[in-house]
Amino acid sequence: MGKFIKIQPSVVCENCIICGSRPVIDQVKGNNFIVRCPKDGTHYQTSPGLVNINDWNMNNRAQDSGDELKLAAN
Ligand SMILES: [Zn+2]
Repeated sequence: MGKFIKIQPSVVCENCIICGSRPVIDQVKGNNFIVRCPKDGTHYQTSPGLVNINDWNMNNRAQDSGDELKLAAN
């Protein structure tokens, strides 16, 4: 298992929606990065490229604000 890069505590990011772990950054082929769960490679991970914490957050949001549901209802 490779070494993961920790995300700075000041960065707001959701925990893994499956196991609750704080995500880490992993460097993959071709100098690309993914944001992934440190415990399990089958949990959500972002596409290789720039570090995309926003994408991680979108896909690991546990507490739904409900805004999207409200919009859909209208
Ligand atoms: Zn996980």
